[in-house]
Amino acid sequence: MRESKKTKETRIRHILDALAEAYPDAAPQLHFSNPFELLIATMLSAQCTDKQVNKTTQALFPVYNTPEKFAAATEAELEPYIKACGLFKTKGRNIIASCRILMEKYGGEVPKSLDALTTLPGVGRKTANVVLSNAFGQPAIAVDTHVFRVSRRIGLAKGNNVLQVEKELMKNIPRDYWSRAHHWLIWHGRRLCTARNPKCESCAINPYCDDYKKRNKKK
Ligand code: SF4
Repeated sequence: MRESKKTKETRIRHILDALAEAYPDAAPQLHFSNPFELLIATMLSAQCTDKQVNKTTQALFPVYNTPEKFAAATEAELEPYIKACGLFKTKGRNIIASCRILMEKYGGEVPKSLDALTTLPGVGRKTANVVLSNAFGQPAIAVDTHVFRVSRRIGLAKGNNVLQVEKELMKNIPRDYWSRAHHWLIWHGRRLCTARNPKCESCAINPYCDDYKKRNKKK
């Protein structure tokens, strides 16, 4: 049976309340002290753990911490600092190219719009939304692998690609929850709703989770 608008809103409210209660301290795990550092850290985080990125930036930022410095660097000069993050050749090339654009077009500042950010090489919607939300306090939902998996399991979104899921989440979740919901879903995906063997019996959301309900109906 199709869920009514009111039932869906109530279910989503319960899910958000449960996530808020479970993860009151949910926050970005990447270390940064300004929007530019967050941009670089997020670019380095593709297919790399936050822990490794933090280790990398701890050594990188004391040497390279402005668009000007990165723009003047060569890929070979950056390589020893970022190698441990993986995909370092592409990441190094994109970071240098992006910093040259920041210098030429944006006066060395990180732009505050999704359109401008996503013109930078290596900066997709996910990275741009992370920066807009965490560095500039703009409401945004960055869809990473955890947000994608968890929101589809719960039934907060049904889309088959990250853009569809991002749009559905923005439609289904009240705007003032977007940034917090992004962190809650990541934390939930890391702690309980893991890719393999989600710990559903310990999950406070299980009464509202589509995937859990479907699996238990079949039994
Ligand atoms: S009930 Fe299971 S599948 Fe659903 S959100 Fe919780 S851990 Fe994930």
